[in-house]
Amino acid sequence: MNGNDAARVESAAWRADGRGASVDAREAVLHLRDVALAYEDVKGEPVLALKGVDLTVRDNEFLVVLGPSGCGKSTLLKVMVGLLRPSEGRVLHRGAEVRDTLQDVGMVYQNPLLLPWRSVLDNVLLPVEILRWDRRQYEPIARRILDTVGLTGFVDKMPRQLSGGMQQRVGICRALITDPSLLLMDEPFAALDALTRDEMARELAHLWERRKKTVVFVTHSIPEAVLLADRILVMSPRPGRIDRVIDIDLPRPRANGRKLGAAFEDYVDSIRDIIFSFKDA
Ligand code: ADP
Repeated sequence: MNGNDAARVESAAWRADGRGASVDAREAVLHLRDVALAYEDVKGEPVLALKGVDLTVRDNEFLVVLGPSGCGKSTLLKVMVGLLRPSEGRVLHRGAEVRDTLQDVGMVYQNPLLLPWRSVLDNVLLPVEILRWDRRQYEPIARRILDTVGLTGFVDKMPRQLSGGMQQRVGICRALITDPSLLLMDEPFAALDALTRDEMARELAHLWERRKKTVVFVTHSIPEAVLLADRILVMSPRPGRIDRVIDIDLPRPRANGRKLGAAFEDYVDSIRDIIFSFKDA
């Protein structure tokens, strides 16, 4: 497969079809339209982090955001969930303007930030307590989710008794406990060693295949992106723009990139070329 053939510049196609835009806006989980976001630097000067972002996030898709450091990936996630208001443009959640932080969202960060004085089970149940939901009802659900990520025997342990990979699994379970329809993951495996990272990516793919949700996942790792994604959104350097959106047409389950053969490697190579071309530009 030729990477350029596979690459589809969604934003351009979307702009070319004005009628399609309104259909997308109603049917999409999230719809960003010509979004810009400027921060202020220490001198009060604007720092443009995102510009002209047009994007549709589809129901139950696994969308991976890839791009060089500082291109606005984290900013994009924050804008999506209403943690940041765009300086320009619009963000729609199921067709309604996002004016406040979205509720039906789970967030996973690079560091799981577990509370050290609470057990694994109590950390997973924290969102339930914050929302004042019935803890007794959610305890079996928490145990079941922990079970699916291989932490059955660790529910009563304290975070310090767990490895980094296990702690990150607990963070993922905590994000899933309220069964959010949208899961945003910002480089969730970046702090893990390479082997654990591979294993976590496989587990996440497995989990997502069983419990379909809309996932937006930020990573620096191209193989990880290809292993997980339905679509990969490649961002260009600052100000962050969507350079292109690539459909990953590989069969699932995708337990192992090597077993997917040449098609997997072709995707990885063509995306690497795109990202390297930014450095040459
Ligand atoms: P990425 O996640 O791709 O590494 P970020 O979204 O974190 O990129 O940042 C995009 C750009 O915005 C970077 O140049 C960064 O320095 C800048 N930036 C991020 N957060 C702030 C902030 N709170 N104030 C000022 N500039 C910021």
